[in-house]
Amino acid sequence: KKEFDLIIVGGGPIGIACGLEAKKKGLSYLIIEKGPIVNSLFNYPVNMQFFSSSEKLEIDEIPFISKEAKPKRNEALEYYRRIVTSNKLNINLFEKVGSVKKIGERFQTTTEKETYESRYVIIATGFYDLPNKLNVPGEELPKVSHYYNDPHFFASQKLAVVGASNSAVDAALECWRKGADVTMIIRGPEVGQRVKYWVRPDIINRIEEGSIKAYYNSTVSEVREREIILDSPDGTINIENDFVLALTGYMPNFKFLENMGINLSQDKKRLPDYNPETMETNVEGLYLAGVICGGMETHKWFIENSRVHAKTIMAHIVKEQSVPA
Ligand code: FAD
Repeated sequence: KKEFDLIIVGGGPIGIACGLEAKKKGLSYLIIEKGPIVNSLFNYPVNMQFFSSSEKLEIDEIPFISKEAKPKRNEALEYYRRIVTSNKLNINLFEKVGSVKKIGERFQTTTEKETYESRYVIIATGFYDLPNKLNVPGEELPKVSHYYNDPHFFASQKLAVVGASNSAVDAALECWRKGADVTMIIRGPEVGQRVKYWVRPDIINRIEEGSIKAYYNSTVSEVREREIILDSPDGTINIENDFVLALTGYMPNFKFLENMGINLSQDKKRLPDYNPETMETNVEGLYLAGVICGGMETHKWFIENSRVHAKTIMAHIVKEQSVPA
């Protein structure tokens, strides 16, 4: 069947929460996910530990049991996967949505495989697909990555970590502990203020003792096969280099949102236009859920404060449906 009450784009924690809630309300729904279940989490660093404690990552009050207070990536994969399988949620995996178009009162959601029709659509696509680029020559070299996975890969290598927020700091510390020769390139004058309070002293101490090198107020101006070039307060600096991890954040796919008619604010934040009381966008029947809501402010929403979107949206849809057309 290609027709549903509701299509949910994105099978992250919040898309799954929306599917659960739709099922409870008796709506016909389909979650469409371009990768495996919770694709973003699957692509996090292998040893990653959440900054949230497990109960804050729970959806629909289903208990999340973890060994430590803050769960690891693999525990979160277990949790969300079991929710999908034991509730038999209707989800299509490895199917990327290309467009969502409103035709009259209904939406057409087109993937690389199929076109689906529905009365409502929720966009829960997160922000982990598009890295903020350095936009410098050499960025396309295979030694440069915007995603960090496993520290073992960098052992005994000269690694440059660009950025100074949580992802960059975690990667720098972990790789240094596994024997990489780590240099951080930091655009501002200090390690990011939003770095987890229990990690910040660790990185600052490693930098102060010289275990990890850091260039502050500095940017990468070019990446070459054997070195990188920095713009620093002391002028141009060449440093020997084997690998670059450019962990300078990610952003939502704004083109995707604009193409479906969602208005974005004209300022730097590029906030999508939606009603916070219903999560409905300026396009009637089209909703946003999860971290996608924050525009460029990707630190604003996380699982803890956006899991409620599922119930908010479904309450609105059920109310809408009870009003005769
Ligand atoms: P996502 O989990 O990003 O899910 C979006 C899904 O949509 C993805 O699976 C993606 O593959 C899919 N998708 C995208 N485009 C399409 C398309 N066109 N068609 C089909 N599918 C598509 N948050 C916390 O609450 N606690 C933490 O401790 C925490 N730690 C983090 C650590 C790191 C390293 C990072 C990067 C983020 C962290 N976050 C944390 C933020 C976290 O990513 C989000 O809170 C959470 O993933 C948001 O869920 P979501 O469902 O909104 O988005």
